[in-house]
Amino acid sequence: MIRERAYPVDPWHIRETRLDLDLLAQSESVFALGNGHIGIRGNLDEGEPHGLPGTYLNSFYELRPLPYAEAGYGFPESGQTMINVTNAKLMRLLVDDEPFDVRYGELRSHERILDLRAGTLERTVEWVSPSGQAIRVRTVRLVSFTQRAVVAFLYEVEPLDASCRLILQSELVANEQLPPMSKDPRVAAVLDHPLQSEEILEQRAGGLMVHRTKASDLRMAAAMEHFVEAPGKHEVTTEGHPDWLRTTVAAKVGPGQKLRVVKLAAYGWSGSRSLPALRDQVGAALASARLDGWEGLLEAQREYLDAFWDHSDVKVEGDQEVQQAVRFGLFHTLQAGARAEKRPIGSKGLSGPGYDGHTFWDAETFVLPALTYTQPAAAADVLRWRHSTLDLARERAQTLGLQGAAFPWRTIRGQECSAYWPAGTAGFHIGADIADAVRRYVQATGDYDFEREVGLELLVETARLWRSLGHHDRHGRFHIDGVTGPDEYTAVVDDNIYTNLMAQQNMFSAVEAAKRHPDLARQLSVDDEEMASWRDAAAAMHIPYDRELQVHQQSEGFTRLQEWDFENTPPEAYPLLLNYPYFDLYRKQVVKQADLVMAMYLRGDAFTPEEKQRNFAYYDARTVRDSSLSACIQAVVAAETGHLELAHDYLGEAALMDLHDLHQNSRDGVHVASLAGTWISLVAGLGGMRDFNGQLTFAPRLPSRINNLEFSLLWRGLRLRVSVTADEVTYSLRNGGGAARLVIHHHGKDVEVTQVKPVTVPIPPAGPVGPPPTQPAGRAPVRRAPQD
Ligand code: BGC
Repeated sequence: MIRERAYPVDPWHIRETRLDLDLLAQSESVFALGNGHIGIRGNLDEGEPHGLPGTYLNSFYELRPLPYAEAGYGFPESGQTMINVTNAKLMRLLVDDEPFDVRYGELRSHERILDLRAGTLERTVEWVSPSGQAIRVRTVRLVSFTQRAVVAFLYEVEPLDASCRLILQSELVANEQLPPMSKDPRVAAVLDHPLQSEEILEQRAGGLMVHRTKASDLRMAAAMEHFVEAPGKHEVTTEGHPDWLRTTVAAKVGPGQKLRVVKLAAYGWSGSRSLPALRDQVGAALASARLDGWEGLLEAQREYLDAFWDHSDVKVEGDQEVQQAVRFGLFHTLQAGARAEKRPIGSKGLSGPGYDGHTFWDAETFVLPALTYTQPAAAADVLRWRHSTLDLARERAQTLGLQGAAFPWRTIRGQECSAYWPAGTAGFHIGADIADAVRRYVQATGDYDFEREVGLELLVETARLWRSLGHHDRHGRFHIDGVTGPDEYTAVVDDNIYTNLMAQQNMFSAVEAAKRHPDLARQLSVDDEEMASWRDAAAAMHIPYDRELQVHQQSEGFTRLQEWDFENTPPEAYPLLLNYPYFDLYRKQVVKQADLVMAMYLRGDAFTPEEKQRNFAYYDARTVRDSSLSACIQAVVAAETGHLELAHDYLGEAALMDLHDLHQNSRDGVHVASLAGTWISLVAGLGGMRDFNGQLTFAPRLPSRINNLEFSLLWRGLRLRVSVTADEVTYSLRNGGGAARLVIHHHGKDVEVTQVKPVTVPIPPAGPVGPPPTQPAGRAPVRRAPQD
């Protein structure tokens, strides 16, 4: 699965030491910068060559009709596609009379560095033009975490041997031409010319453009301004066209001298603000960026990241590749959500157009656990966004003949956008995933104001959905039939175990929260009878089990299905969804991604240790990991069931998903769930962290190659640091004040941690561990430690 290493191992940087045009699109995703509001792909400054040009604004999309050969009642009619907006990255250079283009002349060196502490992408190039003029170009770019609307660029050029004329054309370009889309259903639709020009304003050293989408009726504005330092006489001019605005800097520069241009750019969009209001908004954002200037923006970026790393860093000693990857993953997780501010987090963040920029359960179930314990305010904002779409989810439930709220399987704005019903509409578990994220956030922060503001209503409306979707059979058992769980290779099934266990927790959580806020519950028309109906349904939830095999069933009848012929499935036939009909996948025991295994993590309180061992062995042998959402969770359960080396292998796969392009589609954007999932693999996997029923528990145990693991968690305003070695663990508290204390469980025993002094406790010897689980032929993860 692994190709030659594209980026050497370095704990705080992702470095590309030479330009490989075959890896261009992957690097554009890896080197994408963003702040949750704006995202820019790591395209070369001069725009060409490119894999996929991309600039995105969170929730800025266009509508498109969804194509059906045979439509049916309740099928969504319109899709939403995140569009490539006005590009502010473009800076083309003419050296004497040759355009600087890495495909021509001689590329002596080309290096790019994503600096995870500085929050910048830096590029250094030495190039000789076809006519022999040698230059060095150094560029640095950032998407500001502190000024949400601002992007900034530094461009420096230095002739190396002789004086030359340098003409730098710095642009804003709308409606860039995009490469045609492939047939892979996971890529995005390409819309031709989605932006209509509304206004353009040219000034001497910059200007502004306003555009609007045709069908979604959203308006966006982008502005830029340049600050030029040149050794002698130089000229700065700007000219415009409805779809581009170009500032040209012309200078004569000698060897040892530099042309230095700082470009500040600002973005804004709105569905309701007028053209003048939006124009002023980006003008103001630019003024604010100017106030800090390039150096000030750099400094603020570093300070922001210093604070982030101070409480979020995870240290891994013994596996440098994983160390680098977990920081890379945390950085992209932050980039996806930091300043989203009541907007969704897409499955690729804002790093590429894959999956049309849609948000899925990836956000609530994979990204939010990491954010809840490191950046809780960002987690709360995602849930506030979900809450803002509640009316649409209620409407959808009504269309489907259900009560409460049916949240969309995939969306940007809140409407269901899946055109594939078995994995779209039927993926009802999204509701319970949202409820779980609400429960986790409130429990970890004690933020009961949030619970009143949005949490309770989300819990109540999702509980209502479960109550109306499921039914009690004649024996009183509660069933949820005809739904699709996380495993999308088994669709429209009865009693999917993950869905049932998560719905059970959803209904219990709704009862508890309603009891905490009786006044508010009454306003939401919750009465005793309704609460009793949730409690009864949850208590009577059917959990399918195969007595003969002594394993749980992923859904009713799953273990009776025909086995998939893994031995005769060639490696190139993966992912199976691109090579076999769903018809065949659905009727056999082949699992796309952790489903029952996911339930054993999130609802680990519903299984005994022996059941976990047996279930894990059974399902690991049938799980092909065709989704990037799988390995991180398999790592957690492998660790819990004592298979530490396997946990390490799965952790490696989750961590290296994009750095090694393991699914060969990183070009469409990074896999945010897997990157955030790396944090889950380390903290919940090797650290054994669980938070059932408001109790923080740990059961750390390290695989042979990792000799130290350190991570921090925020818990009700306290910062808990956990440092694990092979045989002991140190727990310490920070910033809670002198009297702060916290009682945690360590391998089943209470441990009191105070701020006065760290506590060190031994790791007890491991209990009996079953035989190592096996994987489908050819699907074992890459080994990270030498095997005995
Ligand atoms: C997975 C889903 C996931 C989606 C977006 C699919 O391949 O099966 O679980 O939500 O990708 O990442």
